[in-house]
Amino acid sequence: MSREQHIQQLRDGSIFDLLVIGGGATGCGVALDAATRGLKVALVEKNDFAEGTSSRSTKLVHGGVRYLEMAIKKLDRVQYNLVKDGLRERGLLLKNARHLSNRLPLITPLYKWLDVPYVFSGLKLYDFLSGKQNIGHSRLLSRKEAMRRFPRLKAEGLKAGVLYYDGQFHDARMALSLALTAEQHGATIANHVAVSGLCKEDGKITGAELTDSLTGESWQLTAKGVINATGPFVDGIRVMDNPTAAKMLSASTGIHIILDKDFAPPETGLMIPETEDGRVLFVLPWEGHALVGTTDEPAEITEHPKPLEAEVDYLLRHVARYFNLQVSKSDIKAVWSGLRPLVSDPKAADTAELARDHVIEESGSGLLTIAGGKWTTYRKMALDTIDHALKQFNLSAPRPTCQTANLPILGSAGYDAKGDLELSKKHGFDTDVASYLNRTYGDQAEKVAKLAEGGIGKRLVKNHPVLESEVLYATRYELAERVIDVLARRMPLALLDTEAAKQAAPRVLEIMAEELGWDQRRCEEEALLTEQRLSEAL
Ligand SMILES: Cc1cc2nc3c(=O)[nH]c(=O)nc-3n(C[C@H](O)[C@H](O)[C@H](O)COP(=O)(O)OP(=O)(O)OC[C@H]3O[C@@H](n4cnc5c(N)ncnc54)[C@H](O)[C@@H]3O)c2cc1C
Repeated sequence: MSREQHIQQLRDGSIFDLLVIGGGATGCGVALDAATRGLKVALVEKNDFAEGTSSRSTKLVHGGVRYLEMAIKKLDRVQYNLVKDGLRERGLLLKNARHLSNRLPLITPLYKWLDVPYVFSGLKLYDFLSGKQNIGHSRLLSRKEAMRRFPRLKAEGLKAGVLYYDGQFHDARMALSLALTAEQHGATIANHVAVSGLCKEDGKITGAELTDSLTGESWQLTAKGVINATGPFVDGIRVMDNPTAAKMLSASTGIHIILDKDFAPPETGLMIPETEDGRVLFVLPWEGHALVGTTDEPAEITEHPKPLEAEVDYLLRHVARYFNLQVSKSDIKAVWSGLRPLVSDPKAADTAELARDHVIEESGSGLLTIAGGKWTTYRKMALDTIDHALKQFNLSAPRPTCQTANLPILGSAGYDAKGDLELSKKHGFDTDVASYLNRTYGDQAEKVAKLAEGGIGKRLVKNHPVLESEVLYATRYELAERVIDVLARRMPLALLDTEAAKQAAPRVLEIMAEELGWDQRRCEEEALLTEQRLSEAL
């Protein structure tokens, strides 16, 4: 359905079982869980799907190696169980979103002999905890083998390496695909629609006032239950509900920089186990580039956080420490920042203690807030939230238990990892384009390829596999409403290469303007907004 059709459904006066606020990992996951249980659900996102934190992650599907270390050091069962849950969810995500995710080998270089048994046994335990969902066995690498696998690693003082496995995924498209899969199961979904107020009767929430961010029009929607899944922004909605609500969230920023692919080992990530502030840092191959991240700095909660110079310097400093090649600011192709939602449980005795899991809170007027967690565990968070919602809002779902453990998300069911060969043969695509289309769209890639036959099959920009036909596909079938929705979330271009995204922008605008019938004023507005996002902060 088009966005207009979704909005019509949101405005037609019908009563929804649930209204989910926020179209990131959490909200899209919650909407999918609810829709697959047979509930009538509406999902609204103020900006674009995944425009918040959910397109700005390190793109790892993981249990958290560092959390495991903490669990062991502090004999902390909660942390231990969190790692176990994360590893289980890692396996399910890799299975249910096969085209958007992959297993990734990672090397940890070790420069002290004492670290070798310590890190190796920790990673062996990590394998063990994943049980049936194990995706590969960790093993020791000799110094020679580590250097052979990644010749650019600093050789001086290197003692050995450990090879282990985690998952990697395309976060922005994952959120979109969850929303579109929810739509397939009957959910009404709309991006660029904000909750601008909550409606109440006798002190109980009965729905919300929605505002179309593109037209400014507002209306009311009635729902038996309202779920606040707005990530770093949950307190904004909680204060809408109760102006005196105590904050449950603080935020820190994490930035990533993108470098040329030569900075990452081929097909393998690098995990730097101990930065100067005791964190782990990753250098990962991603979409033909090297993704380096991340930082952790206290931050204001804003929609488009700006990366700080000091954070960029921190990342470059660490890359330089582990590589035998010079890296400078001029090597950076793109940089972007995301807000980490750090949640404290308002019911916990010590509220200064940050929750390491997700927190579900029910307010006096019935607002259900779900916050915290991580991308990898979105499905478990959704399951817990809908289990809670069924009881809290007294809903009877046709299928009362969670349905998502074995549910392929859109694009995954018929995905063939070798489908790129067929795409090349049938449509004559270059190998990089065919591989990209196959991984990005899964069993929907043929539709993008068909559109390319209609005279818009060219690359949007040289040296990147992104095509003009994707713009049309995103506009027609993936609810892209703005040029930046396409450049930053339907395709990864803006996150990979700012200059290339700037070059591609006019053609993206042209295709969207024709498809959506934009007038001169809208075209000017789009050009300005795109320039702003690409030059200031994504
Ligand atoms: C730097 C960094 C790296 C990370 N790396 C990883 C990783 O590798 N693996 C992993 O598993 N996790 C990772 N995470 C964590 C993960 O990204 C987050 O936990 C997850 O994306 C949070 O999703 P969310 O939906 O809760 O929040 P968001 O993605 O921020 O979504 C909330 C949405 O609510 C919308 N919203 C706000 N107000 C309103 C309103 N009034 N009406 C409608 N909509 C509204 C916002 O526009 C936003 O899109 C990382 C996080 C950071 C910051």
